[in-house]
Amino acid sequence: MQRKVIYLDHAATTPLCKEALDKMTPYFCDCFGNADSPHGIGRKAMIAVDAARDEIAALIGASPKEIYFTSGGTEADNWALVGGALAQKGKRVIISAIEHHAVLAAADKLRDMGVKVDVLPVNDRGRVELSALEEALDADVGLVCVMSANNETGVIQPIEEIASLCKERGCLFFTDAVQAMPYLNIDVKALGVDMLSFSAHKFYGPKGIGALYIKSGVKIEKFVCGGEQERGMRGGTVNVPAVVGFATALKKTVAERAERATHLTKLRTAFLRQLEGLDGVSVNGEEGLPAVLNLRFEGVENDTLLYAMDLEGIAMAAGSACASASVKPSHVLTAMGLSEKQARGSVRISFGKDNTEEDVIFAAKALRAQVEKQRKM
Ligand code: PLP
Repeated sequence: MQRKVIYLDHAATTPLCKEALDKMTPYFCDCFGNADSPHGIGRKAMIAVDAARDEIAALIGASPKEIYFTSGGTEADNWALVGGALAQKGKRVIISAIEHHAVLAAADKLRDMGVKVDVLPVNDRGRVELSALEEALDADVGLVCVMSANNETGVIQPIEEIASLCKERGCLFFTDAVQAMPYLNIDVKALGVDMLSFSAHKFYGPKGIGALYIKSGVKIEKFVCGGEQERGMRGGTVNVPAVVGFATALKKTVAERAERATHLTKLRTAFLRQLEGLDGVSVNGEEGLPAVLNLRFEGVENDTLLYAMDLEGIAMAAGSACASASVKPSHVLTAMGLSEKQARGSVRISFGKDNTEEDVIFAAKALRAQVEKQRKM
């Protein structure tokens, strides 16, 4: 009998939860209206969109008019960075060295447009040092971007402190909370951020839907141009089923967050226990999100290791899924001071709510055996 696949790549994406699917289903064929249409079928769709927006806003401490739906985390990141910088009339932008490619590529676009973008380093534990930001911040800076938690290491950044520093210095602060949202208690007002991005498929919602929180009064240029949807700020027909699924998945996630964190921490501990006594293994980055574990093995190449694990039915990753076709070593790990060789010997394991302790013990034993085997080759 074939054994089920053990999926340990939840930082890349998660399966849709049943509750979200059930809530979404009527909006594909029965209630299919365009939410901006001026008739009953359209109004019905808009009622669902408004209810989802109200729910999502309440779950992150925002007001509904501060939530703008996008096609996912990438678009929200692109928009915050490009739209935020343009509204700041070409003032300097600072991003951390460990941002997702959605931010890095948008920063390159800004550079092409003549905006100066500086990169903030991280320490060897993967964290932005407040003192480095303090030094880099002067009156020329219009926008700072530091992610809430990293997608490769799970390291959590000091967002509240950064937000307060940016406020004091009079510049905008944007945080990519795509990875943080499933696991950390996010209250935009308590954090003090100006903009925050998040994406449904990281917490058992549908793919292709996300949102950008833009604090009331914050000026940002439009990014996706078209119709007058999203209060004139984002063109494009609203993806009604996805919006409905997004709200449902976030509601469930927030309700189960603490319970999931306890379970994930247990899985992380169980996994690490299986590697005790194995030489040449280290954890990359300080402990952060309970779901993410980034491990470095001396004397192995991550691509060979991941291929062998995949053949055994165990899905893991080397880092960001968006960079998995890239031959470059992880920019996150090299920013933390790892050599290219060390970065190429690193793998990311990201646990999910439906993994069992038995699954992760099996996977960790298989990983250990593969590392030992490949070191002998
Ligand atoms: N930001 C971070 C930190 C991510 O991990 C991801 C997805 O991997 C994204 C942005 C992009 O989100 P999406 O896949 O919704 O475009």
